[in-house]
Amino acid sequence: MATTTPRHVLIVGCGLGGPCLALSLARKGIRSTIFEIRPEPSESGGSISLAPNGLRVLDRYAGVYDRLRDVGFSYHRFGAYVDDGEKLGEIVAGEVSEGEKGYPSVRIMRSGLLRILLEGIRETEGKVEIQWGARISGIKEDEHGVTASLEDGSEVTGDILIGADGIHSKVREHILGAESPKATYEGICLVNGFVPASSVTKPSPDFTFPSFVFTSSGMLMSIPIDRKGETLAWGINMTVKEERSREGWKEFGKSGEAARLAKADYDKIRSEPVRSLLDNANDSQARLWPIYAIPDDIPKWHTPRVCLIGDAAHALPPNAGQGSAMAFEDSAIMVRLLTDGKFTSYDELFAKFESVRRARIAVLKANSKAGGVSKAETGPWMWYLKKWAYRCFFWWKRGQLQMAKLLDYDVDGVDLA
Ligand SMILES: Cc1cc2nc3c(=O)[nH]c(=O)nc-3n(C[C@H](O)[C@H](O)[C@H](O)COP(=O)(O)OP(=O)(O)OC[C@H]3O[C@@H](n4cnc5c(N)ncnc54)[C@H](O)[C@@H]3O)c2cc1C
Repeated sequence: MATTTPRHVLIVGCGLGGPCLALSLARKGIRSTIFEIRPEPSESGGSISLAPNGLRVLDRYAGVYDRLRDVGFSYHRFGAYVDDGEKLGEIVAGEVSEGEKGYPSVRIMRSGLLRILLEGIRETEGKVEIQWGARISGIKEDEHGVTASLEDGSEVTGDILIGADGIHSKVREHILGAESPKATYEGICLVNGFVPASSVTKPSPDFTFPSFVFTSSGMLMSIPIDRKGETLAWGINMTVKEERSREGWKEFGKSGEAARLAKADYDKIRSEPVRSLLDNANDSQARLWPIYAIPDDIPKWHTPRVCLIGDAAHALPPNAGQGSAMAFEDSAIMVRLLTDGKFTSYDELFAKFESVRRARIAVLKANSKAGGVSKAETGPWMWYLKKWAYRCFFWWKRGQLQMAKLLDYDVDGVDLA
């Protein structure tokens, strides 16, 4: 073990990156304490796509891939369509486009994923302590260690502290002080819900889910969320220019207004599966997600004993379905550095982490921006041109859009010397 292998790691946030890191550390014999502001494991959050590069970490580092595959829906590609039902081609979402070798993508309820990570943590027999309902009020660090103060007056000391506390990170404020950027609203909302797959009409016998339908209003996604594909999640991206308060967003979603508006944009579309899917979608059960992001150029991710991972460091709009995979990759690279690295200080180790991960995030950013264009609302003429641009693009790609640079990334192949 390296001299910078900690005995006790403090982790703020038990969303996705936090528990993945804690479990992966525990499997290497390193103890951690997680502080989570929520009073109990979150049951909300809808469903999420786990990309092959993230699944590789969940398999090799957290050891939970088999359980995820048993619960979630595995797939290798999305069908890409336009509003009148014409098929453009396929977007490859698994590691291998032909056959079923390599990691697929898995769609799963976010709560189910957390449950599986927590099950894994329980099996490490005391290597991870989770404090639910724990709000950090301060962080102090010196050459001997780092201490987190909690709002109930208690204090916990460790060797390092990892901020996995998401887009509105408090740990980021400790690192950057007054310079710490606030998350800003991107002008786009995602509205989503669930329907029984049996209630949706397929346009042809060979049609398969998941699918994207591109329209002048943006994009409609439909994707199974369970192993047998019995329930479909649907999601519509909708332009909403005005930002609202937290309460305002809640009301906009809960009242069913957001779902009605999102669906209204699709009223004129008669092609399947869009028509039956939206006619069967229940407005009051739909959930609203206003999309926020933080700037690309956060000046630093770490101090001598504190470092950010996941959305706290690099939250981007969820255009490439890669946010969780980036948090899992961060966890794996951090574990490698903490167990195998040859560093004289955590400061040096975190600087290495930051440089390796910034380079990787730059690749995601390029893809994420292209994904954002497909979700933007357009007028009729622009939509006519955009449709032709899609046709030419998929023709040029021979009907298959590959995202190998994102999906094939292997955390174990990264040079950390
Ligand atoms: C609508 C939407 C759809 C998405 N779809 C996908 C998808 O399909 N695939 C994908 O890979 N990614 C997707 N993402 C992105 C993905 O959700 C994030 O990238 C991922 O959750 C980041 O993980 P994280 O652990 O960094 O942060 P989070 O999962 O946000 O976890 C942060 C945790 O920290 C806790 N916390 C916050 N502040 C404190 C505090 N002060 N003290 C203690 N705890 C605190 C929070 O309660 C939370 O549990 C989507 C995002 C959105 C908004």
